[in-house]
Amino acid sequence: MSRKENAALLLNEHANIFICPVCGGKVEVVEHKSMICSNRHTFDFAKQGYINMLTRSMKVNYDKELFGARQRIIMKHNLYDPLHRRLLEVIQAETERHSHALLLDAGAGEGSHLTKTLDQKEGSVTGIGIDISKEGIRLAASKCDTVMWLVGDLANIPIKNDALHAIINILSPANYQEFKRVLAENGLMIKVVPGKNYLIELREAILDERKHSFTNEETISLFKQHFSDVKTEELTYTKALNKSELNDLIKMSPLSWNADKESINNLRKREQFEITIDLSILIGKNR
Ligand SMILES: [Zn+2]
Repeated sequence: MSRKENAALLLNEHANIFICPVCGGKVEVVEHKSMICSNRHTFDFAKQGYINMLTRSMKVNYDKELFGARQRIIMKHNLYDPLHRRLLEVIQAETERHSHALLLDAGAGEGSHLTKTLDQKEGSVTGIGIDISKEGIRLAASKCDTVMWLVGDLANIPIKNDALHAIINILSPANYQEFKRVLAENGLMIKVVPGKNYLIELREAILDERKHSFTNEETISLFKQHFSDVKTEELTYTKALNKSELNDLIKMSPLSWNADKESINNLRKREQFEITIDLSILIGKNR
C-alpha cells in the first residue's frame, strides 16, 4: 500500500471528526485521494502520506535543514526522551477510560515529539499531528505512518467540536480558543514551555544571556484562565552532546539565528557539550 493510500484509509476511519476548514461542513474521503465536503471543497492527500487542509498558502520561516536537525535531535539523539515518557504517562492515565483516545499535537512541526511520545504506547491512543508548515508535516509523514498528519491552521483547526480527548502543545504557540473547541468536556490539555535554565549553556555560549530574567508567570496565568484543575510540573535534566549532536542543536535552535558567527563557529568546534533541558509542563482540563 502506498503512503498516500495508507493516510487516506487512516483518515477515513476517523472521517467523522474532521470538518471542512472552508465551510465547516462534513467531509468524506473519496477514492483514497481526497477529502471532500458536502459543498465540494476538496483537499488532496500527498504521496508522502499527509493531507493539506490549509485554505490559503502561508509563508513559514522554518526550513528543511532546521526540521532535519530537529528530527535527529529528538528521534535519534533522544534529547527529549524523559519528556516523552512523562507525557505518555499523563495521557494514558487521563484517557484510559476511552477504548480509543484521540490525541492532537497542535504545532507538531516535523512530528518528532508526537511520534516519540506514541512510540511506546500499546495502541489505545491515536495521534493527529497538525502544523502550518508543509515542509514539517511532509517530513513527519515520511517517518511515521501510524499518525494522521495534517497541514493546517491552528486558528482554524479542521476538526469538529468536542472531538478530541487530549491535546499536546510543545514549545510552540497556542490557540486556546480553538483547542477548547475541539477538546471534549474534561479533555486533557498539556502545554510544554521552557523553564529558566532551558538550553542555558547554549544561551551563555552564544548570547551572553547569563543574567537573562525569565518567568513563565504570564504563560501559566493565561493557561489557568482557559483550563481548570491546572497542575504544573518541572522537568529538568542534562545530557552530554557529542560534536554532531551539538551541531544539530545549534541548527535547530532559534537562539542561534541571531547570534554572531564567531561564537557559533567556536561552539561548533567543541567535542563535548553538556546541555540542560529545563521544561515546565502545564496540565489542565477543558471545562
Ligand atoms: Zn466545505
